[in-house]
Amino acid sequence: MNPNTLENHWMPFTANRDFKSDPRMVVAAEGMYYTSEDGRQILDGTAGLWCANAGHSHPLIVEAVTNTIKTLDFAPMFNFGHPEAFRLAATLAETFPNPLNRIFFGNSGSEAVDSALKIALAYHKARGKGGKTRFIGRERGYHGVGFGGISVGGIVANRKQFNTHLPGVDHMRHTHDPARNSFTRGPVPHGVELAEDLERLVALHGAETIAAVIVEPMAGSTGILPPPVGYLERLREIATKHDILLIFDEVISGFGRLGTPMAAHYFGVTPDMITFAKGVTSGAIPMGGVAAADFIYDAVVENSETPIELFHGYTYSAHPVAVAAALATQRAYAEDGMFENAASLETVWGDALHSLKGAPNVADIRTIGLVGGIELASRDGKPGARAYEAMKRAWAKGLMIRVTGDIIALSPPLIINESQIGTIADTLKEVLAETA
Ligand code: PMP
Repeated sequence: MNPNTLENHWMPFTANRDFKSDPRMVVAAEGMYYTSEDGRQILDGTAGLWCANAGHSHPLIVEAVTNTIKTLDFAPMFNFGHPEAFRLAATLAETFPNPLNRIFFGNSGSEAVDSALKIALAYHKARGKGGKTRFIGRERGYHGVGFGGISVGGIVANRKQFNTHLPGVDHMRHTHDPARNSFTRGPVPHGVELAEDLERLVALHGAETIAAVIVEPMAGSTGILPPPVGYLERLREIATKHDILLIFDEVISGFGRLGTPMAAHYFGVTPDMITFAKGVTSGAIPMGGVAAADFIYDAVVENSETPIELFHGYTYSAHPVAVAAALATQRAYAEDGMFENAASLETVWGDALHSLKGAPNVADIRTIGLVGGIELASRDGKPGARAYEAMKRAWAKGLMIRVTGDIIALSPPLIINESQIGTIADTLKEVLAETA
């Protein structure tokens, strides 16, 4: 591509100057592979950005999107509706654990998070507890880039450039303990006591000021931090005891990523709200949303003093084309047994990635479901430099990986097979040797 045409796009979360001198472009995608601009097949180790769980361009999704754009290009959802939106909500209510049966739609994970936070405030206010306005997040949490999301989020770089955020937010410690848990296979044994941070923050601020606590059940963007055994259960207990809503941000961990419909199922803990996006449409069309417990919906709706009960929504909420993509995606997951495939490969996946233990500069390896994090020792005091180089080398060898700081994050489509898992591990082995 002519380098001059690369000037105008201000790319998100990207080293813009470096990219424009050394671009990595994809022009097509099918199944497990991207096609690069220079015609190479690139194995997708990241499901795009944790989203193409059904693989790329699944025929059911392509057909549904194509048909819908021809028949219903847009539907206003404020006081109007279209039947498929209700069918999708009913379908998703089956996917989420009970009693999370009320589905609110937006367009992204960031919007889902901000919607959930606002719903939490509306819920408490409707019950005469309008003083509950504080949110508790967690260090290293990622909850998108809205002001709500960066406030409850705990990734320093995403906050410090902007100097201000929501007032009143506090954070629990993150759950990663390299001294005790490095290279853990299976459930993370140590760290349940970290859940007591919530009790300490309640003591500090007063339960009457706290609306909700939000965590990723398995922290993804921050470099794959599965929760210690018993941690989520303890958060659940403390939240219930203090009338604090528990929100699981399942934008990454939902829709089969861990081999179960939601991570809530995997860990056996039911929150009061789940935020979702990405895998709901396998990334094909933007969509996100919130699944809220019936009691939250009931409190907001039944106590409303106005005909409209919730003054919140998006022009593109339940967009017909996104709804069609989501319904087809759910069908693809079920008909092709994709969650089951992910579950059956969890051990093979874990074995393959943990075989990289001992490769140059590997400081830790964490796997769960079809997710993997390979943490590298940073080079010459330059955080992220080594992993960034690994990402470029992997691309040159036909593998797309994602890096976050010095952590390689992997999350392939759920349709992956054993041989492709082997290719990922072999390629990474070469890449790590070269990056030494
Ligand atoms: N929450 C979590 C847990 C995420 O991982 C992400 C995106 N990686 C988001 C929210 C934000 O989603 P989006 O980029 O669609 O706004």
